[in-house]
Amino acid sequence: HIGEKQFGGGRAGESAATGITEDLVKAGFESGRMKTGTPPRVDGRSLDYSKMNEEKGDAKPDKFSYSDLTVPLTNQRSCYMTYTSLNVHDILREGFDRSPMFNGRIKSLGPRYCPSIEDKINRFADKERHQLFVEPEGWNTCEVYVNGFSTSLPEDIQFKALRSVVGFENVKFFRPGYAIEYDYFPPTQLKHTLETKLVEGLYFAGQINGTTGYEEAASQGLMAGINAHLKVHEKAPLILKRDEAYIGVLIDDLITKGTEEPYRMFTSRAEYRTLLRQDNADFRLTPMSHEIGLASEARLRRMEKKLNESEKMVAFFRETSVSVAETNPILEAKETALITQGDKMFKVFSRPQIDLEDMLKFEKVKEYIESNDVDQEILEQAEIQVKYSGYIEKERNNADKLTRLEEVKIPENFDYNKIKSMSIEAKQKLSKIRPVTISQASRISGVSPSDISVLLIYMGR
Ligand SMILES: Cc1cc2nc3c(=O)[nH]c(=O)nc-3n(C[C@H](O)[C@H](O)[C@H](O)COP(=O)(O)OP(=O)(O)OC[C@H]3O[C@@H](n4cnc5c(N)ncnc54)[C@H](O)[C@@H]3O)c2cc1C
Repeated sequence: HIGEKQFGGGRAGESAATGITEDLVKAGFESGRMKTGTPPRVDGRSLDYSKMNEEKGDAKPDKFSYSDLTVPLTNQRSCYMTYTSLNVHDILREGFDRSPMFNGRIKSLGPRYCPSIEDKINRFADKERHQLFVEPEGWNTCEVYVNGFSTSLPEDIQFKALRSVVGFENVKFFRPGYAIEYDYFPPTQLKHTLETKLVEGLYFAGQINGTTGYEEAASQGLMAGINAHLKVHEKAPLILKRDEAYIGVLIDDLITKGTEEPYRMFTSRAEYRTLLRQDNADFRLTPMSHEIGLASEARLRRMEKKLNESEKMVAFFRETSVSVAETNPILEAKETALITQGDKMFKVFSRPQIDLEDMLKFEKVKEYIESNDVDQEILEQAEIQVKYSGYIEKERNNADKLTRLEEVKIPENFDYNKIKSMSIEAKQKLSKIRPVTISQASRISGVSPSDISVLLIYMGR
């Protein structure tokens, strides 16, 4: 959809894949429709960056991979920030009567967290401006992505409005923004392995399951691929639990709760955020990945080395004492209470005011690092273990309590209708979703704690 223009298609420049939805519906699947959009792409050479705020990348960029073959970025291009204005909003409103969003042509729901600019000025009418991140698309292109200006308004309106944004007075378009609608299949029709309940050996992953973005699609593709492979080889499936990985939260949410609007994976959707840290992703997942033949032996060894050495360092902090004379000047500088007698490093270091830099001021720590050849990754891991050990332990206990419910399996063809003391809503939802465990049943919206107690009695608990 671009204003009043509408045409069918697949990914940009490709033709549509037709017939698949019809075939799947014929096979008994339920399907629905969702919407998403994108901003215009513009020529960076036509912009006046001197009128915008420069937004530099992280001074110390992190990386996704723990492999030492992946080196952190040393050089980055900046983004720039500019803003819409009341004038820009007025121009955009001129196109509302030709907007497929407002004239009823687009009926499906779009991603709540990436609203189009027309949605923003409509829903947040009291805001005088919205920020726009002006992002370079790559090293070898002058194409620029106007983040925050996703729109399906007519092209002439997009152009006129953008030309009124500071820094965009002479903007040239490569492509206008547009919205698309696509079919999805409510993911409650899937098992935890992403195999469909209806057709054995058929797996769904990605946008077809109603998720919003690249990472959600990639992680589901990986899991569906792993599980299809394991099934063909008659091996046990790989199901990541909610306390083991965000992928576990994503898939469990999708298949248990379903989604009526494009699903975005947020850290806030996970109940065990303290366990699911990026610093321990390798501890959580590399052993599993190695077990099924994905991660190499070398990768597993590297992870084990990091784990052993960080644990050794934490043990050193627990066993080693520091003197009043060496500690108090450091505490004083941080305006935190002084110690009156020597104490264990662990206790001093677990104070929130004390950071890694402070720890490195202690002679014994310096000596330890030198004689054990400790690198930055191990140091940071040891620091996290000291600082958060109390919280991590508490969350681990909570997760373990729920894991016990995870072990109470519900028979595959269990007849919920025979339970008298259960709400009708719970019976309907449970019969439809057919949870595998009591724990999964407890996460279904509409299933109350008292329904769970009744179920537990039926399962002999
Ligand atoms: C306009 C737009 C902007 C977006 N912007 C963002 C963004 O900024 N950030 C973000 O995270 N996500 C964004 N997304 C979402 C993201 O692109 C998708 O969620 C993701 O690409 C879905 O991946 P997928 O593998 O599930 O599906 P797709 O990437 O659609 O892959 C499906 C593939 O299957 C092929 N195919 C279809 N039928 C057949 C067949 N019969 N035989 C063989 N092959 C077939 C298709 O050609 C296609 O290559 C955007 C999406 C759109 C449409």
